[in-house]
Amino acid sequence: MRIFKFGGASVKDAEGVRNVYEVLRQCGESNTVVVVSAMGKTTNALERIVQFHLEGSLQWKAVLEEIRAQHYGIMEELFLQKEHTVYQEIEHVLAQIRLICQTPPTSEYNMHYDRIVSYGEIMGTRIVSAFLNDSGLKNTWLDARKLIKTDSNHRFARINWSFTEILVQQSIRAGQSYVIQGFIGSDDNLHATTLGREGSDYTASILAYVLNAKEVCIWKDVPGVLNGDPKVFPNVKLINHISYREAIELAYFGASVIHPKTIQPLQRKNIPLYVKSFLNPLQPGTRISEGADLEPELPIFIRKTDQAIIKLSTRDLAFIVEENLSAIYNIFHRFGVRVNLMQNSAVSSSFCINNDPISTVKALDELKHQFDVDYTSGVTLFTIRHDNGDEARAYLNLSGDIKMEQRTPSTIQIAVSME
Ligand code: ASP
Ligand code: MG
Repeated sequence: MRIFKFGGASVKDAEGVRNVYEVLRQCGESNTVVVVSAMGKTTNALERIVQFHLEGSLQWKAVLEEIRAQHYGIMEELFLQKEHTVYQEIEHVLAQIRLICQTPPTSEYNMHYDRIVSYGEIMGTRIVSAFLNDSGLKNTWLDARKLIKTDSNHRFARINWSFTEILVQQSIRAGQSYVIQGFIGSDDNLHATTLGREGSDYTASILAYVLNAKEVCIWKDVPGVLNGDPKVFPNVKLINHISYREAIELAYFGASVIHPKTIQPLQRKNIPLYVKSFLNPLQPGTRISEGADLEPELPIFIRKTDQAIIKLSTRDLAFIVEENLSAIYNIFHRFGVRVNLMQNSAVSSSFCINNDPISTVKALDELKHQFDVDYTSGVTLFTIRHDNGDEARAYLNLSGDIKMEQRTPSTIQIAVSME
């Protein structure tokens, strides 16, 4: 089998869905599992619904209307027949979300989140599957909530590999084509779970692993993995090959090409991962597999926005020692704060973190009991891999206030306050 993954940006409009057809037509559709994310920014909109519902605000209704309009816009271009069953399928999902929102929230936040947010992928895959079927590419729509089994760690669920393997192998047959949601699964109580934002790549990799697939291909609007995001950095070039290890490093430092968890299962079974352009499906793109770290060897530039810097100082000018550090990391761990860069002095420690609004506020509250806290939001973290020379640094053309900087033989990291 081959696993093809199309992200939200690739299916944000009718044109995108037609492109999925085009890719399958050119690359052959049999023996393929197509993993699809929620269309466009649907997941963000569903997150807003969750928030409004929990706050007791009726504004969720307007957001749900937006989601409905967006999906109808796409369907009306793709399905001319008003009686097409896909309209009922979408209405059914919208009705489910309405039903949840019309009753007061009872479950805890993350569980409630998964229940609502997972519907984005259900809608997107219904539309893609129906369109491919209508166009002559016969496929079976699968419900990932019945196949991808996880624990109950909602929003960041971990895979139950053995159970998932059995269920997937029972449902997916060689020679056929399937369309399935990325990002979502379910726990032992059959409650929907999600695998972390942008988790559809990971789903593709899970399916590849349990099916012993020949390859995974992530289809994007860029020719493959470039040595920097072309929307951010000028004159970037295509990387032809990346080793699994280097791909994990790049994902760790925030290269948004691939979800960080994606690589490991593929590496364990030596399954190659391709990143290709859905506009030129027959071009080679980037191959991630065993072998040379980077080919060609270019410096890689990564920009991570939405960062914050937390500077913690001891109140009595006591040294920051291992004991404080372990307490600090414990708090970060408890609230799910992701640390990207850290620097120590005798009486203070600075951490550049992902500025997630929920976890940051909770962690700060806790840290304030023990430390003087200085918090800077609006920070961007730049990373350069495979070149720690001044030329590469100059290329970043940094403006703003440099708050932290670190160099190792292979990596430069610079946190800049943009405010
Ligand atoms: N739709 C989900 C998200 O936006 C998963 C994904 O796109 O991979 O986070
Ligand atoms: Mg998405």
